[in-house]
Amino acid sequence: MSTDRSAADAAVTVLGLGPMGRALAGAFLDAGLRTTVWNRTPGRDRELVERGAVGAGSAAEAVAASALTLVCVVNYDAADTVLRDGPVIDALKGRTVVNLSADTPDRARDTASWAEAHGIRYLDGAIMTPTPTIGTPAAVFLHSGPEDLYREHRPVLDALGGSHTHLGDDIGRAAAYDIALLDLFWTATAGFAHALAVARAEGVTARELAPFAQGIAAILPPLIEEWADDVDGGTFSGEGNPITSAVSSMAHIIQTSEAHGIDAAVLRTAEGQARRVIGLGHGTDGFMRVTEVLGRR
Ligand code: NDP
Repeated sequence: MSTDRSAADAAVTVLGLGPMGRALAGAFLDAGLRTTVWNRTPGRDRELVERGAVGAGSAAEAVAASALTLVCVVNYDAADTVLRDGPVIDALKGRTVVNLSADTPDRARDTASWAEAHGIRYLDGAIMTPTPTIGTPAAVFLHSGPEDLYREHRPVLDALGGSHTHLGDDIGRAAAYDIALLDLFWTATAGFAHALAVARAEGVTARELAPFAQGIAAILPPLIEEWADDVDGGTFSGEGNPITSAVSSMAHIIQTSEAHGIDAAVLRTAEGQARRVIGLGHGTDGFMRVTEVLGRR
């Protein structure tokens, strides 16, 4: 690698300038790092270049400008298209890639194997907060892969603001957290969309429901703490809210939804899992017992 190490340490490359890639590059510029950017579709770097970024003519040229390259594109198919290209591979040898694109743990492991075979140092990561948080204390980044490599690049990563957590050497771990947390997010979001449709069918507007919906969301943080202990400890206390009571409440929602012609398939599935738990003789347990029927340990 010909780049002067001390200069390169204060430099960073960002490949992929969608909303998130632009936010990452913007935070690096705000922190005073020499920031080189590239995107498949030309022109997306205009504002960043006006702010002082170096707009590279190719991904290989961008990679050659820094010891550390962050990739942030839609998924690993896109990341592969960008990275697994002859001149880019040549430029990456001996340098570090942090892949912040979202995908599955298996894809992260596959990319790590590919990187190792080509002499490329590789870390995987996940961003858990939206673009306006980047560069602020509210940003949340998860990282996995070799700890020494993470420590080496941590000063540059810190320029993105927020919290950075190294989850261990298993390269798939950041994606595993990402998948589980997005499972929670999207299931909750789909649940809220469904709730709004049922409310509307009953003549209740989204605006009218919103403050009470926030109240329901506020119940969850302490329950998450309690349920985490239940699931790890295999205790599943149903004291105060046994699963028999939960299925009764779920049945009312299904009944009301279907009376309005609203598909209740998601809740029907969850209710079916809860009834299975009761059928197995655990009716006095709490709802989290369903984790046992969803995936047997
Ligand atoms: P997108 O997920 O829409 O990704 C857009 C980027 O992917 C653009 O740079 C686009 O290039 C590139 N891209 C798509 N297909 C290809 C391809 N075949 N080859 C090369 N590049 C390709 O937007 P975001 O920037 O928001 O997200 C980037 C990543 O960050 C995603 O994995 C997302 O899940 C994650 N993320 C985003 C958050 C957000 O709030 N936006 C929050 C947390 C994570 P082009 O301009 O040429 O189309």
